[in-house]
Amino acid sequence: MKICVIGTGYVGLVTGTCLADLGNQVICVDNNGEKIKMLKQGRMPIYEPGLAELVAKNVKAKRLSFTTKIKEGMDKSLVIFISVNTPPKSDGEADLSFVEKVTAEIAEHMREYKVIVEKSTVPVETGEKIIQTIKLHNVHKTDFDVVSNPEFLREGSAIKDTMHPDRIVLGVSSKRAEKVMRELYRPFKAPIIITDIKSSEIIKHASNSFLAMKISFANAVANICDRVGADVEKVAEGMGHDKRIGRSFLNAGVGFGGSCFPKDLAAFIYIAKKSGYDFEMLKAVQKINEQQKKILVQKVEEALWVLKHKTIGVLGLAFKPETDDLRFAPAIDIINTLQAEGASIRAYDPIAMTKARKILKNVQFGKNAYDTAKGCDVLVIITEWSEFRELDLGRIKKLLKTPIIVDGRNIFEPGKMRELGFVYKSIGRK
Ligand code: NAD
Repeated sequence: MKICVIGTGYVGLVTGTCLADLGNQVICVDNNGEKIKMLKQGRMPIYEPGLAELVAKNVKAKRLSFTTKIKEGMDKSLVIFISVNTPPKSDGEADLSFVEKVTAEIAEHMREYKVIVEKSTVPVETGEKIIQTIKLHNVHKTDFDVVSNPEFLREGSAIKDTMHPDRIVLGVSSKRAEKVMRELYRPFKAPIIITDIKSSEIIKHASNSFLAMKISFANAVANICDRVGADVEKVAEGMGHDKRIGRSFLNAGVGFGGSCFPKDLAAFIYIAKKSGYDFEMLKAVQKINEQQKKILVQKVEEALWVLKHKTIGVLGLAFKPETDDLRFAPAIDIINTLQAEGASIRAYDPIAMTKARKILKNVQFGKNAYDTAKGCDVLVIITEWSEFRELDLGRIKKLLKTPIIVDGRNIFEPGKMRELGFVYKSIGRK
């Protein structure tokens, strides 16, 4: 099948590459000329495990190409994916200006039947707006259908998630579009859930909000564990064996970040309010998440007493391991707060350093975890990269000025850390 993907970011590039790898002819479009130039030169604008190799393979096989021009991408394609960014406005509402712009342009270039797929995460009723906008700009009166096909991939395992999804959700309004989409997704061994467009749009926001709620629930339980001297890891294990609950997303820590959960949660609260419903439960999820970052700073303060003139080593900057994405990463807020208290920051991340240098000010970047720990008053773990789990802690202890570790992701065993002679503080554990 011939496919055009508009918006070549974390979602668009991975979706386009995976669909090409399954034998489709894919053209990825982006209006960021620098990104397209890099991709044409075989360089990746983002980090995602296995992506560079898969892009190279499919470019070589002439199944995958890149352009800055929507018209070029659309001319021969039947299915057009819209996967541009939908960032949050200050009140939580999703900014749909990129979706609107792309939709109008698609309409102007339509000459034959197209299936336009809403892949970006958008509020309920966006499908209707897309249809309305296409009708407005559809100068050639071409037939078209709009499909909602929310994306559930996780950065860091995006290729695996795309190739082996738990489910594929298709919000459709015609049998013709359903047939095209079923044909496209035929190679995937996943249940296909067919709904109307609005229900499909809500599935995405409800799913992400539910996962965010699980994280905040685990963090709230961790805060009780901290107070009464229980162990949140054991609590999560005990809860997680119940199949109705499940162990995933019950990890206590510094809270969630990234380009999806905070944005999608805020958008769902906004959508609910607009529909006349006050989603108080989700507001609490947001509040707990904000508190978690403060709790980590408090733990650093408890360990050091005064932060002014102290040097704090930070391990992990990306919002999660295996990505270079720093959008709404807890590390940014935490570092800003520590700096505001007068502390100096040394920091290291295995992959996100290039992006971090552009965002963080007055931070000294270490070459690796050991270089970062050198001379620090405390080492703070913010992202649970697996290489941090493997650290030679004896060496770290010698490099630190004082042997204090504040672990925002519970990656070390408290008993072992005490044995090694560390002052060790983690989240919700004795
Ligand atoms: P991104 O910022 O990485 O990529 C978006 C791309 O769209 C950018 O490269 C941008 O230049 C391009 N773009 C913007 N306007 C354009 C235009 N007029 N013409 C052509 N290209 C244009 O964003 P992302 O992380 O890939 O997310 C895209 C959407 O998918 C968002 O709605 C997001 O919420 C959703 N989503 C993201 C993830 C994720 O893990 N990143 C997962 C599921 C869903």
